[in-house]
Order: sequence, then structure tokens, then C-alpha cells
Amino acid sequence: MKHCPICNRSSDEARFFGEFCEFCAGKKLRERLSSNAEISLCRDCGRIKVAGVFVPNTEANVQRQLSILFKPYLIRLVHHSNGIARVQVTDEKREGMTIEHNVHVKMLKLLCDDDAKKRAGYYEAVVQLRGEEGKVSRMAAALERYLEKNDAFITKSEVKEHGVDLYASNKKTAFAFISSRHLKFKGSYELHGEKRGKRLYRNTYFITL
Ligand SMILES: [Zn+2]
Ligand SMILES: [Zn+2]
Repeated sequence: MKHCPICNRSSDEARFFGEFCEFCAGKKLRERLSSNAEISLCRDCGRIKVAGVFVPNTEANVQRQLSILFKPYLIRLVHHSNGIARVQVTDEKREGMTIEHNVHVKMLKLLCDDDAKKRAGYYEAVVQLRGEEGKVSRMAAALERYLEKNDAFITKSEVKEHGVDLYASNKKTAFAFISSRHLKFKGSYELHGEKRGKRLYRNTYFITL
């Protein structure tokens, strides 16, 4: 029979984790855990930062980020609302001892890289679509979807006579779209700066649909 050195409970009365009873071991674990956590949240797209990458603000992703913040313990999110996350904390080193714990989660509002670029009007390519209105708007929507699926975006779009100019954040992705649709284009290339000794060009693709 064991006795807890803190509260003197015996192993008949309580489960033991190491030399301590479950109550005292749980209390000691809780004392080691922070009651606060900060998660970065993009004020424009609402995504949160997990392991350095912006991802959708879902319970699964909140749990992933809390797991990183509470290493080496295993974290399971019970629920999360009004800035409080209820979590189950498991200490694998202590035979899987598990306690429940409340964490005040502060959302730090900032801008993800994509939205910072959008706000700054960043673009690498201009896709100029011209032609019949229905065709232009369908192609513009398809380009926007393609860019977003490939982690790029339309910074701005300008309605022109007989079409639209779309400013794309990534020229490789814009060009991949044009290739995938076998669109004929007239290209022009404008030098707009240098980065680490490399010349940066902005590409313009003029496409008649
Ligand atoms: Zn005890
Ligand atoms: Zn964002």
C-alpha cells in the first residue's frame, strides 16, 4: 500500500500516478499548465495560424495549435467558445493521466501574408480578358477559382470596354491557368524591380475569347 506524500491518501482510496495520488498529481499538472494561449487570426479572411501557416478556423485546427502550445502534453479540445477553450490534457509520462483544464484563448488579430499583399495591391500578372460579356465573366470566375485553389488570388479587377483586367498575385499560377485552357494570348513584360539581384517582371496577357 502506498501513501501520497502530500495528502496522505492511501492507494486503497485513490488511483496513483507515480508517488502521488490522482488528486495531487492532477493538481501538480494543472499548476504547470498555462491558463492562457494566444492564436493569431487574420482579420480579413478569418483563418488562424497553426504551425506557422494560415488555415481555416475550425475546432480541429484550434486543437492542433493548442497541442503545439501545450507540448509535451496531449490536448483534446472539448469545446471552444467566447474565448475559453475547455481541453483534456493527457500526460503520457504519467501513465496517461488526464485532467480537464480551461484556457483563455486570446485571438491576436493580424493580416496573413496573402491579405497583406492584397491590401498593398500586390500583383505579378495582369490578365486582360476581352470578348462577349458572358464568356468574359465565366472565364474571369474560372481564373479566380483556379488561383484560389492554388494559393494565389485576384488583387483587383477593373472593368474595361469589352472586358475586364484581372490583377493576379502569382504569374506562374496565372500562366498555368492560361495554358490549361489553351488560350491564345499576346504577352508583354514590364520590369518592375529587383529582388536579391533578380529582375522582377510583371507579365500582361491579352486574351481575346
Ligand atoms: Zn495526494
Ligand atoms: Zn487572411
